[in-house]
Amino acid sequence: MLDIRFIREHADQVQEVARHKGIEVSIPELLAVDNERRRLLLEVEGLRMQRNTLSQAMPELAKQGKKDEMEAKKAEVRAVNARLTELEAELLTVEAAYRELMLLVPNIISPDTPVGGSDEENVEVRRVGELPVFDFEIRDHVTLGEMHRLFDLPRGVKVGGSRNYYMTGIGVFLHRAVQQLALDVLAGRGFTAMDVPLMVREEMMTNTGFFPSGREQTYELPRDEKWLVGTSEVALVSYYSGETVDVSEPIRLAGVSNCFRREAGSAGRDTRGLYRVHQFAKVEQVVICKNDPDESERLLQEITQNAEDLLQLLEVPYRVVAVCTGDIGQGVYKKYDIETWMPSRESYGETNSASNLWEFQARRSNIRYRDEQGTLQYCHTLNNTAVATPRILIPLLENHQREDGSIYIPVALRPYMNGMEEIRPE
Ligand code: AMP
Repeated sequence: MLDIRFIREHADQVQEVARHKGIEVSIPELLAVDNERRRLLLEVEGLRMQRNTLSQAMPELAKQGKKDEMEAKKAEVRAVNARLTELEAELLTVEAAYRELMLLVPNIISPDTPVGGSDEENVEVRRVGELPVFDFEIRDHVTLGEMHRLFDLPRGVKVGGSRNYYMTGIGVFLHRAVQQLALDVLAGRGFTAMDVPLMVREEMMTNTGFFPSGREQTYELPRDEKWLVGTSEVALVSYYSGETVDVSEPIRLAGVSNCFRREAGSAGRDTRGLYRVHQFAKVEQVVICKNDPDESERLLQEITQNAEDLLQLLEVPYRVVAVCTGDIGQGVYKKYDIETWMPSRESYGETNSASNLWEFQARRSNIRYRDEQGTLQYCHTLNNTAVATPRILIPLLENHQREDGSIYIPVALRPYMNGMEEIRPE
């Protein structure tokens, strides 16, 4: 959410950002509704004051026995009340329309965000790690998984429907090992580990910016008026909703959760294997800090680096891309994606996504801090994947495969794999 004063003063800029982000919202319409809202508010305020003045005059008139005047005043109060009832109902309708439009307004974007319509126009910032050279015919992660019984896709689909899977045997250990490694690395860097609610109230989805635009992507539990989170970011940011927080040091949180996504609109995309599934596990970084652009930019670099360090520990090649305007999302001010090399796809595939949302979520969630002058300010919030699995197992298995089908296990993972150095064919 942006400050309405900012929107009034930068109406053209905000409309332009909406156009770049592909969001349908009319800023002139919002400003017209806002004007109407303010006009009604003023009128309601005026009438309430008038009613107070009239009521205060009554006891004196009663004391003086001025019955006629009292009756006249009472009639006036009735008229004011009737008008107030009308206006308050009107105000409720206008406030609802105002809020609906405000929830659609995009955050502004950083000056260094590339302009582009889709992820194809994201701009590569750096590549890290050598691409593997195989002198044999490679197996993709599905074949490797079947070979070593790491997961079971057909039975996942039989039981859970499309885009479902079972992790099995060593696959379970790998799935958990990458999460535990991520958690340990983050804990060592000042992050507080959090295991979070996965079913949340609608308000939290809206406050964190996933609603209204992401409703289609979200599983609903209508009987209980709750929603299944697609990321622990919802629960981590909402942990502080409505609170005044101490951000003299940035708040660093590492959320552990399963994530649920409907993947609406993805029919036919990435249907083979573990790339795009309805349920996955993620360790997520969330940072809450002062609304100082330099500080939140430094933190964006920090959480990007944390994810890169993890990929380096997993010994997989990756690249960082600056996400362009058309792919950045409604609430995000600046974003990097990290894409990891997936040999069977002969391309890099997204494995991490680092965003700086400035005040967007904090305004909606009402998360504030007191600055040095004691004034309440909205925080900046940021997030980045530390690791998302099973997607990360695709580059892990495919990059580390050998000709005989065995798979090298990176040194950093071995403590979480009972010291296992490789996965060997049975
Ligand atoms: P996001 O929260 O959308 O930025 O996603 C963070 C990360 O979660 C992505 O970079 C992927 O690694 C992973 N991810 C997102 N959606 C899926 C999915 N449907 N299936 C598997 N992994 C996913």
